[in-house]
Amino acid sequence: MEEWNDKNSAVYVYKKIVEAYKGPLAGKIIEVLAEHGELTEDELAEKVGADEAEVRRVIWVLASEGLIVSKKVVNETGWITFYWQLPLDQVDGLVLGLYRHIIDRLEEKLRYETENIFYWCMDPNHSRLTFSEATENMFRCPVCGKTLMPYDNSELIAAIKYCISEMRKIMKDYFVEEKSEE
Ligand SMILES: [Zn+2]
Repeated sequence: MEEWNDKNSAVYVYKKIVEAYKGPLAGKIIEVLAEHGELTEDELAEKVGADEAEVRRVIWVLASEGLIVSKKVVNETGWITFYWQLPLDQVDGLVLGLYRHIIDRLEEKLRYETENIFYWCMDPNHSRLTFSEATENMFRCPVCGKTLMPYDNSELIAAIKYCISEMRKIMKDYFVEEKSEE
């Protein structure tokens, strides 16, 4: 338990970010592995308490990106068992990689929002159109035919900028803290 507490902050950030990136079941798998060290696929499915096939699918997704790793154990009779565990020595690098990936995606979205002017029919079920798309459609919504109005995306832009700056702040604090502990 002592050991788990030492790793607590790194693993907590890891769990949170895997959850944001790969969904709640993936986050749960990280949490259970952090708590128990290493588990077989069956044990993992039981502890997570989710559908076995679904757990197996998420394990595969996580493993294919190196977010969890397996250890092969052969007993005296030659029976092979695979145990899943967290790549704890690589958690810092993986967290940093995931943060960068999410920040990149947000920056791409920010670029798209700032570089385009949008037009919209105001129906939340219909998509916004860029200026060139709106021109092609004679400023009518291709779904409902209503007149397209200029859409003010400044609030959305502000929200994306806020997310990016918050993520940068967390990333900086986390890694500065990790360094000062050495
Ligand atoms: Zn419409």
